[in-house]
Amino acid sequence: MLIVQKYGGSSLATTDRMKFVAEKVVETKRAGHQVVVVVSAMGKTTDNLITLAKEVHPAPPEREMDMLLSTGELVSVALLCMAIENIGEPAEGMTGYFAGIQTDSFHTKARIQKIEPSRIIEELNKGNIVVIAGFQGISPENSITTLGRGGSDLTAIAIAAAIKADMCEIYTDVEGVFTADPHIVPEARLIPEISYDEMLEMASAGAKVMQSRAVEFAKRYNIPFAVKATFGKGGGTMVKEIALKEGAAVSSVSLDEKQVKITIFRVPDRPGIASQIFTALGKENINVDVIVQNVSKESFTDISFTVNISDADKTLKIVKAIAKEIGAQDIICDTDIAKVSIIGIGMMNHPGVAGRMFDALARENINIEMISTSEIKISCVIKKSDGVKALKALHKEFIQ
Ligand code: ASP
Ligand code: MG
Repeated sequence: MLIVQKYGGSSLATTDRMKFVAEKVVETKRAGHQVVVVVSAMGKTTDNLITLAKEVHPAPPEREMDMLLSTGELVSVALLCMAIENIGEPAEGMTGYFAGIQTDSFHTKARIQKIEPSRIIEELNKGNIVVIAGFQGISPENSITTLGRGGSDLTAIAIAAAIKADMCEIYTDVEGVFTADPHIVPEARLIPEISYDEMLEMASAGAKVMQSRAVEFAKRYNIPFAVKATFGKGGGTMVKEIALKEGAAVSSVSLDEKQVKITIFRVPDRPGIASQIFTALGKENINVDVIVQNVSKESFTDISFTVNISDADKTLKIVKAIAKEIGAQDIICDTDIAKVSIIGIGMMNHPGVAGRMFDALARENINIEMISTSEIKISCVIKKSDGVKALKALHKEFIQ
């Protein structure tokens, strides 16, 4: 078989772990498979590099930021190849560029446009284990780009698609996908199989297992993949297309404490204003999550929405400029919020799920500030201090 294995930063955090991963990779090859490995930067390397950048510039130029961040994965590639060679198997390391990963020019959040995998195939055919730097590609201007935080997941899935791998395994520090974060909810259980859509909603709901862009890509090209623990023996979670079946309404609950709520007060209530605001944010690749617009009084309205905390500064800058243009009154950024979500394809078959959710929160005396729904997810924005209590209550209500 042709197998793609991705190892996350925590699995490569020390040289001892690196040697352990090398053994695992070699074992896979010696079992008769062709192996492509995609690696993240060691441990907290990426965070540390970002800190360094901010020490020399409060808002580092994004092109140079990508150049800096891409070095983290290169360290992992080189060291893992050495560790593999030391066990006696040939390994060939590759940057994103050598692996043929072509992206657009959106630095720090680039999208993969095309993969030209001939070099990978060539090295595999020579009997090499191929080790590829995750999270990076090359723009049409030949600049190094990165694929957004957690982007090595995307590299792995996209490579699996490009080389038509038989199997894609995402190795990480958890046993797989759980019904809730087991650090917060000890009763949480491993989910053996989950659909792309649920996984996608979980990622956007703040479950930190995988990068959501990677899951989107897997869904679009139907690339089933497994999420497994590097240092464990369990079967993990298989993520794939699953037909709607009878069963529980909710398969998981999650908590996102990394959102901020931005409110624009006294926005003129006329056609085209919301589009002006959200198109501008979209152009900058900012993901807007829950949106609420109030009832209009005297032809003015208030608009609130949430974005990831990492996009807060950029968003405020854009929104302030537009507010001035359209004559809106005031902007407030509230960081004291959290978002709890319940997710499940079974929701489509079970009416009344929303009522049960609001009820469970009300019983805990938790106030709901905003609500958003999709076919298979309901999210509520609440106070940050209520987050953990809300998550536990929802797990008890729907899963336990
Ligand atoms: N090293 C990058 C990050 O920390 C990419 C990854 O780990 O997937 O976001
Ligand atoms: Mg990661």
